[in-house]
Amino acid sequence: MDPRLVQLAYLLSAVLFILGLKGLTRPRSAVRGNLLGACGLLVAVVVTLFSAGLDYRLIVGGLVVGSVIGAVFAIRVQMTQMPEMVALFNGFGGAASTLVAGANLMQTDTFTADVLVATALSGVIGAVTFSGSLIAWGKLKEFRQLDKLRIPAQQIVNALLVLFCIALTVGMVNGEGSFWTVVAYWCASGLALILGVTLVVSIGGADMPVVIALLNSYSGLAAAATGFVLSNTVLIVSGALVGASGLILTRIMCIAMNRSLTNVLIGTMGSSGSVLNADDVYANVKSTSAEEVAMLLEVASRVVIVPGYGMAVAQAQHTVSDLRKILTARQINVEFAIHPVAGRMPGHMNVLLAEADVPYEALREMDEINPTMEQVDVTIVLGANDVVNPLARTDPSSPIAGMPIIDVDKSRTVIVIKRSLSPGFAGIPNPLFAADNTLMLFADGRKAIQDIINALNES
Ligand code: NDP
Repeated sequence: MDPRLVQLAYLLSAVLFILGLKGLTRPRSAVRGNLLGACGLLVAVVVTLFSAGLDYRLIVGGLVVGSVIGAVFAIRVQMTQMPEMVALFNGFGGAASTLVAGANLMQTDTFTADVLVATALSGVIGAVTFSGSLIAWGKLKEFRQLDKLRIPAQQIVNALLVLFCIALTVGMVNGEGSFWTVVAYWCASGLALILGVTLVVSIGGADMPVVIALLNSYSGLAAAATGFVLSNTVLIVSGALVGASGLILTRIMCIAMNRSLTNVLIGTMGSSGSVLNADDVYANVKSTSAEEVAMLLEVASRVVIVPGYGMAVAQAQHTVSDLRKILTARQINVEFAIHPVAGRMPGHMNVLLAEADVPYEALREMDEINPTMEQVDVTIVLGANDVVNPLARTDPSSPIAGMPIIDVDKSRTVIVIKRSLSPGFAGIPNPLFAADNTLMLFADGRKAIQDIINALNES
C-alpha cells in the first residue's frame, strides 16, 4: 500500500477520533460520537493490517482468542461490574504496550536514542498501568484486605522505584540495543509493576474514581509511546488523545472530590483516619413504610431524588423514571441530583437515567442543586451513601473528609432507601441515617420504588 495513502487514512482516523470525542461531550450526541470513534478505529485497524507485511495467521489467531475472551467478558458482566471491567481493560492496554515494545526491542538490532527512550516509557508506563489497574480492580471488587495493606515509608519506596526506572532507562540508551538493553528494559518494567502496586494500594475509600481516571490516562500515554516505537502515527495520536482526555477527567474528578492532583500522581491520597462506631451513630434510626412515603410525596411540591450505586445494583432506574412521571403528572416538581462520583464510574448515574428516558433537563449537578436544598420538601436517597454522608463536612479524620456531598440533610424530609445500615464504598457509617429529618425505608431499591408507586396509585 502506498505510504502516502496510509498516512492519509491515519489522518482520517485521527479526525474521526477527535469528532468522536467531541460528540461524547454531550449526552445527545454521545451515541453518534461513539460511532464516529469506532469508525476511526476500524479505518486504522484495516489500513494497518493491509499496509504492513504481516503474518495473517497469527493475527487471525489473536483476533479469535481476543474476541472470544472479550465476548465472554461482555456477555457475563453485570451492569454494576462495568467499572471493574473497565479497570481490567485499562490494565490489559498497559500490558499490551509493555509487551509490544519489549518484543520490538528483542527483534531489532539498530536503535536510535529516541526510540529507546520511547521503548522504556512504553514499558514502564504500561507496567504501572497494568499492576495499578489490577489493584484498582481488586478495590472496586471491595476486597477489604487490600485496604489493610500498607507500604512502610511509601513515599521513599515510590521515589526509589522511580529513580531505578530512570537509571535503567539511561542504561538502556547507553546499551544501544545490546543484550543488556533488553535486560534493563525488562528490569525497569518489573520495577514499574511494583510501582503500580505501591502507588495505588494505599489510596483508600472513596478516592478510587480519581485513580481509575488516571490509570486510563496512563494506558493512553503508554500506547502513544508504543506508537513512537513502531513509528505508527495513528497509535501516537489515539494514545495522546486517551492520555490527555484521561488527565482532564482526572482533574475534573479531583475538583469534584476536593483532592489534589499532585497527591494522586504521587500516590498519597486517602486517609486511614478513625472510623466511628456504627452502633453509636445509629442509636436513633427511624424506619418508614412505602405508604408513609407516598403520603409525604402527595403533599410535596418539590422532590429531589439522589441516585447512587444501590440504584445500579437494584436496576431501579426504570421504576424511578415511572415514579417521576407519576409525580410530575400531579404537578410535583421532580429533580435528580447527580453527584460526580455516585456509582462506580464517571457518569454512571447519567447513563442509567438516560437509559430509562429520564430527560436531561431533570438532572441537576451537585453545585447547581446544593444551594437550593433547603427548599426541597422530600429528598429520596436511592441507594446512595458516601455521596450524601455529612461526615465529609464534619469529620476531618474521615476517609471522605473534604469531599463535597449533596446536602440532602438540609431538605425538610429525607427518605433513604437501602436494604440495611451497611456502609457504602468508603466503609464508614453515615450519621444522615439517624438524623431527625431522616426516615429509612429498608428494601431493595426497585421494590421500594414500586411499592411507593403502588401506594400512590391506590390513594
Ligand atoms: P455507596 O457505595 O457509598 O453506597 C451504595 C449503597 O447502596 C450501599 O450503602 C448499599 O446499602 C446500597 N445498595 C446496594 N444494593 C442496593 C439495592 N439493591 N437496593 C437499595 N440499595 C442498595 O454509593 P454512592 O453512589 O453513594 O457512592 C459511590 C462511592 O463509590 C463513592 O465512595 C465513590 O468515591 C466510589 N467510587 C466511585 C467511582 C466513580 O467513578 N463514580 C469509582 C470507584 C469508586 P445496602 O447494602 O444496605 O443496601
